[in-house]
Amino acid sequence: MTGTLASKRVLLIGAGGLGTPIARVLAQSGVGLIEVMDDDVVELSNLHRQLLYCENDLGKSKALLACACIERDALAANVGGTRAVAREMRLDPDNALEAVGSFDLVIEGADNFSTKFLVADACALAHVPCVQGGAVRWTGWVLGSLPGQSACLRCVFEDLPEGPAQGCAEAGVIGPVVGVVGALQAALALRILRGDSAAAGVLHHYRALTGVVRSRALVRSASCPSCTGRISDLNATRYVPRECAA
Ligand SMILES: [Zn+2]
Repeated sequence: MTGTLASKRVLLIGAGGLGTPIARVLAQSGVGLIEVMDDDVVELSNLHRQLLYCENDLGKSKALLACACIERDALAANVGGTRAVAREMRLDPDNALEAVGSFDLVIEGADNFSTKFLVADACALAHVPCVQGGAVRWTGWVLGSLPGQSACLRCVFEDLPEGPAQGCAEAGVIGPVVGVVGALQAALALRILRGDSAAAGVLHHYRALTGVVRSRALVRSASCPSCTGRISDLNATRYVPRECAA
């Protein structure tokens, strides 16, 4: 991938715990267009880990607030060419391919596994690089993927977890963990946008209790349903949380 950051178009999915630090870093990096997709509003219960919002924002659209902050941060950082566009909608199997298709990179900060797998599959099918991350309790992970070249989310996890979900929405997460993981995701995204293919296919695992990030280079899995081409569409049944599946 070549060209300056000012010519790049990035889609940020999720403007919550992970998405807010991602937005702040990207805003000050000079990326040309940042679209923010989130259909949620600010709630009191998640203020402690969502860096952009305060009590005055309760009930307001996260996507709109994040975009206002991105443009303000870009001006403050003297990279005022950055445009931010809010998409007050939720990614679903019907809109995902079209939603990701026109971007140079998708960066995902969703709080649930269904959206994470949907983003991975949509980006693979649309041939769009993506950076994904997750955080639960005191740990988090980050993975960048280049479709057709590097390992993807399904190479690591293969499918949605069975049994009770353990995403940060259900299990909770320590505020600083999402800050670190979101910043790591943004750094990885900037490397990929600058054409550093070595940034993809490496799983970074952060443990807040030891302060250590461990990085492991991945190989594409011979049994990965995405990399082997067995997933050729975004059938909605594939993204139903498995504890709810019939
Ligand atoms: Zn794969």
